[in-house]
Amino acid sequence: MSLKSWLRSCVKGLSVLMTSVNYTRPDVVVLNYHRVTGNLALELDIPFADFSAQMHWLAANTEVISLEQALHLAAGKSDPRQPKDAKAELLDELPGGWISEDPFANARRENRRLKVVLTFDDGYEDFYLLAWPLLKALDLPSTVYIPTEFIQCPDQTPVSRGLLAKVNLSGVDHSAVNGDQVLRPMSWAMLKLLQQSTDVTVAAHSHTHKEYPSLLAKDVVRDIDQAGDLFETYLGCRPKHFSYPRGAWNLSCEKLVRQYYASVALVGGGGFLTDCLDPFRLPRVPVLRSDGLAWFRYRLMGRLVYEEKLAGLLKRRPVVPPVNLQITK
Ligand SMILES: [Zn+2]
Repeated sequence: MSLKSWLRSCVKGLSVLMTSVNYTRPDVVVLNYHRVTGNLALELDIPFADFSAQMHWLAANTEVISLEQALHLAAGKSDPRQPKDAKAELLDELPGGWISEDPFANARRENRRLKVVLTFDDGYEDFYLLAWPLLKALDLPSTVYIPTEFIQCPDQTPVSRGLLAKVNLSGVDHSAVNGDQVLRPMSWAMLKLLQQSTDVTVAAHSHTHKEYPSLLAKDVVRDIDQAGDLFETYLGCRPKHFSYPRGAWNLSCEKLVRQYYASVALVGGGGFLTDCLDPFRLPRVPVLRSDGLAWFRYRLMGRLVYEEKLAGLLKRRPVVPPVNLQITK
């Protein structure tokens, strides 16, 4: 084990210890994946063997539900932050049969089997070639968030050039590398097949994958429209769900995206759906390459929420207040 891996494990272990006090297990967790090839030495590229082990574990030990089912659970619990008409509209759009006065209370009575939502960002081809066949075999629903410019122009990779430059590509399986095109996207034909299946939700992840807070309002609207137009052209309908490129957002861009989508996913946030019922601020838990299967279980249970902060301290980043397990209302 390298020093770096050892330090990473220490940080994860410390986070598990720190969450031992007043720990409450979440009821619903939304997981965030990117790639499942392991070809690139990046935390967002998980070796397929690890991913497969994680999916088998989820299938055996949790209830994997679709994004729509999770939203329905969230919408069934009263949330004073949601305007009544917007909430009613969301309920109208979602499939029936899930509403109860307090669905999380019901879940607790039913032995609180953990519910998990699987999401994949950036539209890489390996979702279609590797992840989807496994998910189908295990009967696990999922959501893919697609940056449409990447689908149109495969050299417009969502991973920044700066990050890619740090990756040693010499040992990379060149089936995943094609000249400048280091990371291949899915094609519209593949996305159409996913959309036609009953187990995958195809959602938007912007057009250009630029961080929305860095854009003018008119450029955010244009980006949303470009993505929507391409969805309509190739898939026959506009997307209902969205996740922010690179997880970057602020109140101004949130105000805009709320007008276009039924739900918006964040990255991180340290929280779980039990505590955050706003469909426009769905917190997600990123699964990392260094998690393997052992740490993955802790990740899932909310025991690694301090990891990022602790790693920041080790790198001498500015000290930030500790993460609160409960989402700030
Ligand atoms: Zn992305």
